Amino acid sequence: MQQIPHYIDGRRVAEAERFGPVFNPATGEQEKEVALASASRIDEAVAAAQAALPGWRSASLAKRAAVFYRVRQLLTERKSELAAILTSEHGKVLSDAEGEISRGLENIEFATGLSHMLKGERSEQVSSGVDVHSIRQPVGVVACITPFNFPAMVPLWMIGSAIACGNTVLLKPSEKDPSSSVFIAELFTEAGLPDGVLNVVHGDREAVEGILDHPGVKAVSFVGSTPIAKTIYARAAANGKRVQALGGAKNHMVVLPDADLDMAADAAISAAYGSAGERCMAISVMVAVGDIADDLVEAVRSRMESLRIGPGTDPASEMGPLITAEHRDRVASYVTNAPAEGATVVVDGTQQQFDSGGFFIGVSLVDHVKPGMKVYDDEIFGPVLSVVRVDTYADAVRLVNENQYGNGVAIFTRDGGAARQFEVEAEAGMVGVNVPIPVPVGTYSFGGWKDSLFGDTHMYGPDSIRFYTRGKVVTTRWPDPSTSKIDLGFPQVD
Ligand code: NAD
Repeated sequence: MQQIPHYIDGRRVAEAERFGPVFNPATGEQEKEVALASASRIDEAVAAAQAALPGWRSASLAKRAAVFYRVRQLLTERKSELAAILTSEHGKVLSDAEGEISRGLENIEFATGLSHMLKGERSEQVSSGVDVHSIRQPVGVVACITPFNFPAMVPLWMIGSAIACGNTVLLKPSEKDPSSSVFIAELFTEAGLPDGVLNVVHGDREAVEGILDHPGVKAVSFVGSTPIAKTIYARAAANGKRVQALGGAKNHMVVLPDADLDMAADAAISAAYGSAGERCMAISVMVAVGDIADDLVEAVRSRMESLRIGPGTDPASEMGPLITAEHRDRVASYVTNAPAEGATVVVDGTQQQFDSGGFFIGVSLVDHVKPGMKVYDDEIFGPVLSVVRVDTYADAVRLVNENQYGNGVAIFTRDGGAARQFEVEAEAGMVGVNVPIPVPVGTYSFGGWKDSLFGDTHMYGPDSIRFYTRGKVVTTRWPDPSTSKIDLGFPQVD
C-alpha cells in the first residue's frame, strides 16, 4: 500500500505510530495510507520551522519573490499531474481539479507582488524634528489547517501570503486527501524555498490539538466545518495565538421575477452540483421570489436529466463521487427525510444506481423547503438543491439574513436598483450579482460573516498581509543640541 509521508525540513518522513486510510472515491477502494502525526512529530515540525525562521525572514524581498515566480512556473507546467492527484483522492472531475489549481495560482501570483504589499508608511515632521514610519514584520511560525474539499486551492490561499510575509509554515491538510500538499511543498523546494520554511504534517484531531497547544506556533489559519472552526478559534485564542477560522455555509441564490430564467437555471445547476456540491460556495438554497417559482423549478429539473455523473478521470463526467461512503449516506438521509418534514422531492438522486463501488450519488432537487426543516437548516455539503418560495424581495432578504451562515449569496435580476439594494442589505461576506459562486479573485480577500468565519480577517489578498504580519511604528529624532532638554512631562507634539 502506498504511504503518504509528512514533509519536514525538506525531507519526507514516513514513520508513524498511526496511519489513516485514503480512498479513491470513484472506486471505493483504499489505495493509500497516510502517516498521522503525534504530538512529538508536531514538535519536530515546529522545531524545523523555528530553525528556518531567522534565515527566511531576513531573506531579501527580491529573493522571496523569485521563489514565487518559480513556483508559479512549476505549478503551471505540472498542473495536470496535480489535478490527477486531486481527482484520485477527492473524486472531483479533472477539469474541475484544474480549475481549482488555477484559482490557487492566483494566490501565488499575488505573492509575487510581496514587495509592494509589505510597504510601510512614512510621515515627515510629525513633530518638530520628528519623523514616523511603520513596518510590517512576520508573525513567526504559522499553522495552516485545511479541509478536504479544496486540497490544493485552500492550502495555496494560506501558504502563499504566509511565506511571502517572511513566516515559516506548518501545513496540516485534510487526512482524507493529503497527497497534494506534499506535492506542492516539494515544488516549493524545487523552486528554491529553503528547507524548513514549508512543512507538511498530516493528522487528525491529535495533530491539530498538538498544533493549537504548541507555544511555538504564533498564528493559525483554519478552513473547515463550523463546529470545528468554533473550537479551533476558541482554543487557539485561549493559547494566545492569532487565529482566523473559516467555517461552513448555506449559500442562497435569490431569483427575482425579472431574472433571466435560462441564465438563472444554468447557474443554479452549475453552482449546486459542481464538485458534487462539496464547495463552501456551492449554492444549496434557491430562493424563488413571487411568480417565477414554478417555471424556475421546471427549468432546473429539466436540466438535471442530462447531467453525467461518473469517475472524475472520464472526460465525459461532469460530476464525480462524494468523499466517503459515510458522507454519501448522510447526504442521502436529508433527501429521504425531506417529505416527512413537509418538503417535496422533485428529483430524488438517492435512487440513481451506479455500477462502480464508488461513493456516487445522483443529484436531488427539493421544493417547498422552509426554515426549521433539517434539509434547510443543516449544511448538507452534497448535490442537493433546496427551493424556498417567498412572496417578496423583502422576504428573501430576511431569509438570507436570518440564516446562521453568511458565506456567499447571490441575486439574479435585471434590475440594477434591486441588485444594489441587495448588495447593501445582504448579511454575507461575498455577494454575487448574476454570479452564483462569487469567489473573489486573488487581489481581493475571501471570507464570510456570522457562523461562516470566526476572527477578524478574511483569507488571502490584502487581509492576509495584515493577518500574517505584525505592525510596528518607529518614531525617530536625530540629535539636535539646540532642541535637547530635560522634560518629565508626557511627550506632546509641537
Ligand atoms: P472538517 O471541519 O471536518 O475538517 C477540517 C480540518 O479540521 C481538517 O484538516 C481535519 O483534519 C481537521 N479536523 C477534523 N475534525 C477535527 C477535530 N475534532 N478537532 C480538530 N481538528 C479536526 O471539514 P471538512 O469536512 O474537511 O471540509 C468541509 C467543510 O469545510 C464544510 O463545512 C465546508 O463548508 C467547509 N469549508 C469552508 C470554506 C470557507 O472558506 N468558509 C472553504 C472550504 C470548506
